[in-house]
Amino acid sequence: MKMMCTMLAVAMISVGICENIDQKVVQQLKKVQQHRDNEKVLAELLPIVHCPLKPSKYEGILISQLRNAQSSTQQFRLISDKLAELLVHKVIQCLPTKSIEVETPVATCLGQALASNVELVSIMRSGDALLDTFIMHFPEANVSKFLIQRDEKTAEPHFQYMKVSPTLGSSNQVIITEPMIATGGTLEMVVSLLKEKGVKEENIIIASVCAAPEGLIRLGQKFPRIKVVLTVLDEKLNEKKYIVPGLGDFGDRYFGTIAESSIVDEAFPASP
Ligand code: URA
Repeated sequence: MKMMCTMLAVAMISVGICENIDQKVVQQLKKVQQHRDNEKVLAELLPIVHCPLKPSKYEGILISQLRNAQSSTQQFRLISDKLAELLVHKVIQCLPTKSIEVETPVATCLGQALASNVELVSIMRSGDALLDTFIMHFPEANVSKFLIQRDEKTAEPHFQYMKVSPTLGSSNQVIITEPMIATGGTLEMVVSLLKEKGVKEENIIIASVCAAPEGLIRLGQKFPRIKVVLTVLDEKLNEKKYIVPGLGDFGDRYFGTIAESSIVDEAFPASP
């Protein structure tokens, strides 16, 4: 009886905590939506984001092409590869560097180099779409892979598979490639697993193309020391947990596995 009471109390406390967190997410979301055009306030509301919240002019052009439901698989790949390249630059802004001496053919000067090793983590499938570009810039990085499948009905993440690098140590910087941050549920699972493997929260950088405030708020409340870099902050999630306006299913569009009939959706309104 005593045991049952304790279990009940623990469950009630957990529900209380969850409700508290959900309440906080709702309040925070309202504020983000109110201040969508105020970059300074937005940055304060979303402190885990370590880059400008508004896309540059070039990013704005590329993201518009990426969003366009008429873009072919070939065009989608080309544009997302360009955006991945720009994301690498933003990630590097977050990495520690050290001063080095460089001998040029003419003189010796001060230069800089990355101060620590980099590990890459890809969340299959769509994380793989950014991976080649990141490997090009971090050719020595080991790559860990996670497969977390989102239940199409509930949008809840389900762990399927992981293969983790043996050097995912506490001193390395860990970059997670995940083009879409929707509910943040998948990333929450991956970051928790990485922490279990000894990765420090402050060494984790998530590189993402398009994020919903809901996911960023959830991740920020759970892991306040992680960093996120992104191309664009979108408005919200729809009832199917797709990002609005978003670009549909990133993995399907990049890998060409989209069924014609599924293109017409709320995320892709039919042309008049
Ligand atoms: N994943 C996607 O690919 N698109 C969304 O809109 C949400 C999650």
